[in-house]
Amino acid sequence: MTLTNWAGNTPFTASRIHRPTSLDELRRLVAAARRIRALGSGHSFNDIADSPGELVRLDRMPPLIEVDSAAARVRVGAATTYARLAPELHARGLALANLASLPHISVAGSVATGTHGSGVGNPSLSAAVRGLELVTADGSLVTLERGHEDFPGAVVALGALGVVTALTLDLVPAFELRQYVREGVPDDAPFDEIMADGHSVSLFTDYRDTRAWIKHRAEPVSDGWRGTRPAVGPRHPVPGMPAGSCTEQLGVPGPWHERLPHFRPDAPPSSAGNELQSEWMTDRAHAAAALRGLRAVGDRIRPVLQISEVRTIAADDLWLSPSYGRDSVAFHFTWVKDPAAVRPVIELVEDVLAPFDPRPHWGKLFVRRPAVPDRFRELVRRYDPEGAFGNAFTRALLDT
Ligand SMILES: Cc1cc2nc3c(=O)[nH]c(=O)nc-3n(C[C@H](O)[C@H](O)[C@H](O)COP(=O)(O)OP(=O)(O)OC[C@H]3O[C@@H](n4cnc5c(N)ncnc54)[C@H](O)[C@@H]3O)c2cc1C
Repeated sequence: MTLTNWAGNTPFTASRIHRPTSLDELRRLVAAARRIRALGSGHSFNDIADSPGELVRLDRMPPLIEVDSAAARVRVGAATTYARLAPELHARGLALANLASLPHISVAGSVATGTHGSGVGNPSLSAAVRGLELVTADGSLVTLERGHEDFPGAVVALGALGVVTALTLDLVPAFELRQYVREGVPDDAPFDEIMADGHSVSLFTDYRDTRAWIKHRAEPVSDGWRGTRPAVGPRHPVPGMPAGSCTEQLGVPGPWHERLPHFRPDAPPSSAGNELQSEWMTDRAHAAAALRGLRAVGDRIRPVLQISEVRTIAADDLWLSPSYGRDSVAFHFTWVKDPAAVRPVIELVEDVLAPFDPRPHWGKLFVRRPAVPDRFRELVRRYDPEGAFGNAFTRALLDT
C-alpha cells in the first residue's frame, strides 16, 4: 500500500517508515540513516513531510504531557495531537491561547509549519513554543529554549534541523467561548472592526457570499454587525455540507478547546480529505485591497473553490513563520480535489496577491517559492551538514 498524506493527494516516496518506542531507539535510527525525516499526522497537502530515504513517526513513543501549573507551561511529546493535549490542560484549569481549525494534527508538525488559527491578538501556534528538544543527524539530543540565538530559526523549521521529540508550550488560564455564525456579511463591512469583534473571527467566503464565525469570550454586547443576520442553525464552513462534524455554535458557551477549532476531534474535518488547500499571508494593512483583488477574479476562482477562509494572525519573531514580523491577514482556499484544474488558479491567486508580498503556508499548495533568509540556510548547514533531513521540498527552497 502506498503511504500518502491525509488528503491522499501526495504519495510519499520514502522507502520505510519507523515507529520507535523509545528515545534511545530513535537516536540510533537517526544516527544510522543517510536520509530520514519526521512525519507528524500527515495533514500537509504538499510533499513537505516526505523523505527520499526513511520516515520516522513518533506516535509510539512513551506518552508525555507534563504540566507545570505554577509556571503555566506544558512539556509535550512531539506526536501528541491537540485533541489529546487540550482536554488534559483544561482539566487542570489551563489552556492554549489559540488552536487551528482542526485538533487532529500533531503539535510538532503544526509548529514546524507555522500553523495558526485566527484572532487579531493571537499569533501562530508556533509562537507558544518556549522550548524544544530535538535529535540531530548524529543522534545527539539538543535542547533549545527561547532566548537561545538559534531558537527563532528552529521552531518553524520544516523538519529540516532534526526530529523534535518534545516541546514546551506557554499556557493561559482556561476560558470559555461562545461561537456564533453570522450570514450576509457585506463586502464593504469594516474589516478591522469585524476581525477584532471576538477572540477569534474567521470570514468564510466564495468572493460573493460571506459568513462570519465569531468566537466570543463573553456574551456579545451588540446584536452583530450592520446588514448581517444570525444563522438559524449550525453551519459547516463549506456551504451545503452537514454541520455534524463542526463544533457547537448558536452561542452555547463551552470550553476553549471545544469552540476554537471549527471541527470536532471525533469526526473527519473539513471536506474529509476530498479537497486540496492553499493559504497565503500578507500584512494585515493590505487586507481590504487584497480582498478587492480576489473578489475581482472571483468568477475564475469559484469553479475550483469549495470555500475560502480569511483570518488574522498577530506577528511573531520566528524567522520562517508566515507571520514573522508583521500582523497578518491569511487568505485560505479549500479547493476541489482536481490538481490540474486548481494549479492555474493557484497561479492566478499568487498574481493577485503579488503586490502585497504574500507568504505561503508551508503545509499547503503553492507554486511561487518564497525567499528563505540566509540565516536559516546557515542554521540548516550547521545542524544538518550532510543533509540527512533534506527532501525535495526543502532542497527546492534552500538551494535557490
Ligand atoms: C483539514 C485541514 C485543516 C487545516 N487547518 C489549518 C488551520 O486552521 N491553520 C493552519 O495553519 N493550518 C491548517 N492545516 C494545515 C496543517 O496544520 C499543517 O499542514 C500541519 O503541518 C499539519 O501537522 P501534521 O502533524 O500533520 O504535520 P505533517 O504534515 O506530518 O508534517 C509537516 C512538517 O512538520 C515536520 N514534522 C512533523 N513532526 C515533526 C517532528 N517530530 N520533528 C520535526 N519535524 C516534524 C514534517 O517533517 C513536515 O516538514 C490544515 C490541514 C488540514 C488537512
